[in-house]
Amino acid sequence: MVLLDSEKAREQLDSPLFAGAMWSRNRSGTIHPAKLAWGLKAAALKLGVRLHEHSPLTRLEEAGRKMIVHTQAGRIETPRVLLGTGTANVGVSDINRRVMQVRDHIIATSPLTDEQMARIGWKNRQGVYDTRTQLNYFRLTKDNRIIFGGRVSYHFGGNNNPAQDRDESTYYKLAEAFYRTFPQLDDVKFTHAWGGPIDYCSRGAVFARKYHGGKTVFVAGYTGFGVAGSRFGARMGLEMLWNRDTLITSLDISRKGPSYIPPEPVRWIAAKITFNAFDGADDRGGWRRWWINSIKALGFPM
Ligand SMILES: Cc1cc2nc3c(=O)[nH]c(=O)nc-3n(C[C@H](O)[C@H](O)[C@H](O)COP(=O)(O)OP(=O)(O)OC[C@H]3O[C@@H](n4cnc5c(N)ncnc54)[C@H](O)[C@@H]3O)c2cc1C
Repeated sequence: MVLLDSEKAREQLDSPLFAGAMWSRNRSGTIHPAKLAWGLKAAALKLGVRLHEHSPLTRLEEAGRKMIVHTQAGRIETPRVLLGTGTANVGVSDINRRVMQVRDHIIATSPLTDEQMARIGWKNRQGVYDTRTQLNYFRLTKDNRIIFGGRVSYHFGGNNNPAQDRDESTYYKLAEAFYRTFPQLDDVKFTHAWGGPIDYCSRGAVFARKYHGGKTVFVAGYTGFGVAGSRFGARMGLEMLWNRDTLITSLDISRKGPSYIPPEPVRWIAAKITFNAFDGADDRGGWRRWWINSIKALGFPM
């Protein structure tokens, strides 16, 4: 890690908001998540794995020493099931009590011209996140668009397909944050916006848990940090499914689950207040800071 003061940070990427930075030069990088998914798919197929896309699990049934996985068009009998289904409701109530779906949002600009790139001086093309309570994270694409994310929402009952994700106004505050971060790019427009699910749990990191007498293992809870973390989560889940006694399965992270999150409507009310508190917690403080600290004291990562 290299510690940069304000001037040095702004030499790397010029924003009036940056008071300093930590630059992880050797151990960090950015990846293209779709290419990662396609690469994993290609590797799995090469190993002889059979993939059945668009065939969601609709019900899990325990049948003696076996599990039956029901899908819309068929069923699979199997001795073991590894669930890597994130925030989806797979009918196991214990999972619904420990994982809640929040949604994160992103906007992408049109490709920056060389002159616009020169205004911000992002020569080393780092992936960046800031450390404010309502944080933003951003990176460049190959064709020099800026992808700018970080505005979390919660929808009653963990709605997996909220209309707001397709509503332009959902993204205005994110655009405002973009222009605050890069006021010298006030002529840049946005071409894309989207939102996706985050599997929030009170630990703020992955957990794995056995169900159906150990025949099923669920692994998720990455709380927005699972792109690299899911490699570890997959190993942890598989080792638990095969009852292996390894270093990973001996760690607390494998043995202990996160605590329960209160059910609806408390979940919705608390989430609404919390996301409201995020806005302005750093610059205005007051009740917002008090609320966030109280939620933290209850053991929830903020
Ligand atoms: C906007 C946004 C930005 C993010 N940015 C970052 C980042 O910068 N860095 C980072 O590390 N992480 C980031 N994340 C989080 C990261 O995407 C997740 O942590 C990671 O994808 C979790 O991997 P997973 O395999 O557990 O779950 P997922 O990738 O969510 O995969 C779950 C899979 O289960 C499938 N599924 C759901 N229901 C069923 C069913 N009933 N039957 C069968 N299959 C089902 C889904 O189709 C999906 O393919 C971001 C997430 C969002 C939404």
